[in-house]
Order: sequence, then C-alpha cells, then structure tokens
Amino acid sequence: MNLEALPKFYSPKSPKLNDETPATGGVALTITDVMAAQGLVQSQASLGFNLFLAKMGIQDPQSAIDGLVNYVLALNNPVLKKLGDTARAEMALCLAQFAYSDYARSAASKCQCQHCEGKGVIRLVKPVVKHPGVKGVEATIRNESVEELCAQCKGKGEVSTACRDCHGRGFALDRKRSELHGVPVNKVCGRCNGKGYSRLPTTLARRQISALVADLTDYQWYNGYADVINKLVTKCWQEETFAEKKLREVTR
Ligand SMILES: [Zn+2]
Ligand SMILES: [Zn+2]
Repeated sequence: MNLEALPKFYSPKSPKLNDETPATGGVALTITDVMAAQGLVQSQASLGFNLFLAKMGIQDPQSAIDGLVNYVLALNNPVLKKLGDTARAEMALCLAQFAYSDYARSAASKCQCQHCEGKGVIRLVKPVVKHPGVKGVEATIRNESVEELCAQCKGKGEVSTACRDCHGRGFALDRKRSELHGVPVNKVCGRCNGKGYSRLPTTLARRQISALVADLTDYQWYNGYADVINKLVTKCWQEETFAEKKLREVTR
C-alpha cells in the first residue's frame, strides 16, 4: 500500500476498504490493518506522515510544522544562530510555515493570489483628472485612492498552482526533437522539473523576512534564510518518501 491510497480510507464514501493500487497486487486490507499500519508509520516516520496527512487535508498541519521547526533549530545555521532565542524561534516558525506551503502546493490546484492577497482587487493611489464642468476653467489632477482589478488573478482572488509551462502535466512538447522525428516528442518540463506545479517564489519569503529583520543583507538571505527554506522543502519530500517506504514495509 502506498501513501496515495490512504486518503480513501478516510472517505466515508469508500465502498470497499481495500487497496486497489495495482503495485500491491490487489491485496485486500481491512480497516483494522490500515489502522495498525498507520500507527506503525506514525511512530517510525512521524514527520513525513504528518506532512502527508496535512497536505491531503486529513490532519491539521500544526504537528508537521512543529516537526519542521525542530529541524530548523537543529540545523544550526550560522545566520540564525546569531539571533536571540525568541527571534530564532519566531524565524524558525516563519520559515517552516513557508516551506510547508511550498510542499503542500503539490496537492492543491488553487491557492490564494499573493498579488492581491485574495481580494481580487488592488488599491493604489493614482492621479485622477477632475473636470470642473465650467468653461474656461482648467481640469485639475488629484491623487486619489482607487481600486483596480488584480491583473495576476483577473479578479478571481486565487491562482492555479499548476506549472505555467506544462499546465500541471509535468512534461512539455520537445519542439526540436518533434521536428527531427516528425512525431510529437515530450520532454520533462524544465520549469517545474516534471513536478507539474510551480514552486512558491522565494521573493515572497524574502519580503516576509525583511519585515522582521531590519536591513536584511544578501549574505543573510542567501546563506541564512533562503538556504534554510531550500533545506526544509527538500526535507519535506525526503520525509514523505521515508513515510511511504515505511508504509509499504508494514503493509507488505
Ligand atoms: Zn490577485
Ligand atoms: Zn511544468
């Protein structure tokens, strides 16, 4: 049994409680088997299991984020080490939440538009021409706060997390080879590396961190915060893979 098969055990609509994934050879598992297997995976690969359950919306992400915070603190990053205890804990939480959002995007198809913060409109100050309506009197220009439709999400307030190049398929047409062979040839999408979804831009995290750290330097960003985020996201995927391996072992 693999992790992907788990969510259906949580769905009350599941007609049969068996794992129909072909890779397992169709071995029927009872709900008791699944519960026992879950207990084992939870104890042996808790971070990966918590991450996966949270990503699928089965469990609150708090325990997964707590696990990531502990990981950040154990990294002993030189930039974070310079902070006081309270600031370091606050940063660790901020970085863990960001990395979790990046990881969880793989399961979501839509997310809040970062450009307008989900409002669909953007408020900005613009010069507005005022016509007095009186002949001979010149129009005046005044700066006014106006609302404009968000161009990023076209007013919807949410954007697709699917990769813009391959639209979530993970592969794209290889034009060169297709022409060469005269048949459509696909290649792994270069933008998302075949994952099919777009990564959360780290510029967003930089903005958040800049609000907390005065005069954030490039050194602090690249060797500190950005480095920790990358390690965290990698950690999420490694832990999920580990939990998957454990689940296969116990349901073999
Ligand atoms: Zn928007
Ligand atoms: Zn792609």
